[in-house]
Amino acid sequence: MMGPVLILLGPPGAGKGTQARMLEEDFGLVQLSTGDLLRAAVAAGTEAGRKAKAVMEAGQLVSDDIVLAILKDRMAQPDVAKGVILDGFPRTAGQAAALDKLLADAGQKVTAAISLEVEDEAMVARVSGRYTCAACGEGYHDEFKQPAQAGVCDKCGGTAFKRRADDNAETVRERLQAYHAQTAPLIAHYDRLSVLERVPAMGSIDGIRASLADIVGRVSA
Ligand code: ADP
Ligand code: ZN
Repeated sequence: MMGPVLILLGPPGAGKGTQARMLEEDFGLVQLSTGDLLRAAVAAGTEAGRKAKAVMEAGQLVSDDIVLAILKDRMAQPDVAKGVILDGFPRTAGQAAALDKLLADAGQKVTAAISLEVEDEAMVARVSGRYTCAACGEGYHDEFKQPAQAGVCDKCGGTAFKRRADDNAETVRERLQAYHAQTAPLIAHYDRLSVLERVPAMGSIDGIRASLADIVGRVSA
């Protein structure tokens, strides 16, 4: 048995990763990002990573079998007992069904699926300029959020930063299409299961953090 199972739904740039990191801090949960796991597989040059690389760079979805294998591996580690925030998973009806089954086998179910509601056009600008600290993963943006001291991470003092290969305007449009075609229908799935929470997410990071904290406090009580 494990703690709450929270899902963050929303298009690329909606703030899933940022908010997942905050929920880790606020509630002692474990962020589980299939995007991060896939990028690690690409960097490590595993077979799954070699298959995923070109698909990710084209802004399309990696096949369910690869994603599910990577996710199940991660779910087998003991720290997930604290409860998880799934960030970027599930992304297809097949993945949602597999997750429902995985949880049912463990006598559990999705605690809440939180849909971050944003406007597509703003996502292109957000994603195109973003980068992260190579050491601690803190997120920054060319226009919206530079470090207080240029070139130095506010959080850890690191001086190396990285950008994702798929964070450019063209690939973002592709990813938005994939989101609307394959992932947005999951909102109705979780609504039917009565675990859907919709959160307006065009406001400030701290405002959204507070909305999420309310929801998580309520559903995991
Ligand atoms: P974002 O939410 O900003 O698009 P992610 O890091 O979640 O960023 O995903 C980056 C890419 O990794 C996706 O465009 C896709 O190619 C792949 N990916 C991540 N998670 C999944 C998933 N659950 N199913 C299929 N592909 C995925
Ligand atoms: Zn840092």
